[in-house]
Formats: sequence, C-alpha cells, structure tokens
Amino acid sequence: MNGLHELFCTLLHAYNKRHWWPAKTPFEMMVGAILTQNTTWTNVGKAIANFGDRLSPAFIAHVNCDELAQIIRSSGYYNQKAIKLKALTEWYGKYEYTIEKAAHIDGELLRTELLSVKGIGRETADSILLYALHKPFFVIDTYTKRILSRLGYDIPTAYDDLRLKIEASLPRDVYLYNEFHALIVEHAKRHCKKKPSCAGCPVETVCQKRI
Ligand code: SF4
Repeated sequence: MNGLHELFCTLLHAYNKRHWWPAKTPFEMMVGAILTQNTTWTNVGKAIANFGDRLSPAFIAHVNCDELAQIIRSSGYYNQKAIKLKALTEWYGKYEYTIEKAAHIDGELLRTELLSVKGIGRETADSILLYALHKPFFVIDTYTKRILSRLGYDIPTAYDDLRLKIEASLPRDVYLYNEFHALIVEHAKRHCKKKPSCAGCPVETVCQKRI
C-alpha cells in the first residue's frame, strides 16, 4: 500500500500527537479495550470512573459478576462485558498481573493467547498488544477501513489480510503504529465521519471520494 507513511506524516502534521491510549495503567488500558466494544468512549470513561480506586486485577478477579456488571453498566452489554473482564483478568493472572512479565513473551504467542480469551477478538487483541504490551500489531477498526477505502486503497475483507498488508507497507515500529491508529481515529471524528466533512480535510487533495 503505497503512500501510507506520507498519510501518517500528513495526519500528524494536521492533528499533532494524540497521546493514545488514555489510561493510567496498562491494566486500565486492557479493561478499556473491552469496555469500548460497541459503545462510545464517553460511556467507557463513565464506567472506568465508576471503579474509583478499585480498578485492579485483584478486584476484578474477586468481585462477583453481578456487582462488576453494575459498575460497568454505562458501557452497555454490561453482563457480557463483566464475563469478558473476568476472563481477561484470569489470562493476566498467568503473568502475575505484571505487564513486564507478559511483555517478555513473543508477540505472536501473546496474540494467540489473547484470541483464545472469551470476548477478545482481533481488534481488541491488537489494541492490547500495541497499547499495553508495546508489540507492533496494527489495529484495524471501522475508521481505518472507511478512511483507507475513501482514499482509494484496495481493502481486503478479512481483518488479518488488511492488517498484514498495512504492516508490510510500514516500518515495524510500535510508536508509528500507536500514533497512526490514534490519528486515524481523530481524522474519522473530525473530518472523515460517516457523512464526511471534506472541506478543510488535510488529505482532500489526494482523496478519491472527496465530496
Ligand atoms: S476528503 Fe472527505 S472522504 Fe476524503 S479523507 Fe477527507 S473527509 Fe474523508
């Protein structure tokens, strides 16, 4: 996919560094990656705030599912998400709730493990790998597909086909993947919305779908 690095530079120039993912700890980041499924970031923020100072692996491991579901109610699908958070925490327990111990393991192996955890799909796994474990996996979401497709790129249907295609076109670099995904999210919010606002879009001159 030619021109991806230029796209990154243009978006970085337009929106500056995004300091993504907004979380105080790697565990909070992982929890946020599950809570954000099928909801807005505002609702995730409310659910995270509702934990107060209780947001820790030990708390989630021991609290009962009903209570956990009530804490995260604002994020929607809270009963399912409570089960997912329990499963994620059980996986993390394998590494004694220590991010350095988990990060010591090979990225592909960690990805396989995460994908076997209930409720963790590819996008969530890659978000956790990139933002909590600092492994170079490019996160694909609806925004990524929408923007690249509008810019005229040929987008494979399967998640991993697109991820591998993007990764093959960029240096395998955690900082780059981290910032690029965050910039894509920002671009989708500011300009390339479902109904795009193309006036003033930083990539308007090279976009095939500009309106
Ligand atoms: S010109 Fe419009 S459609 Fe193209 S990337 Fe910008 S906002 Fe999206």
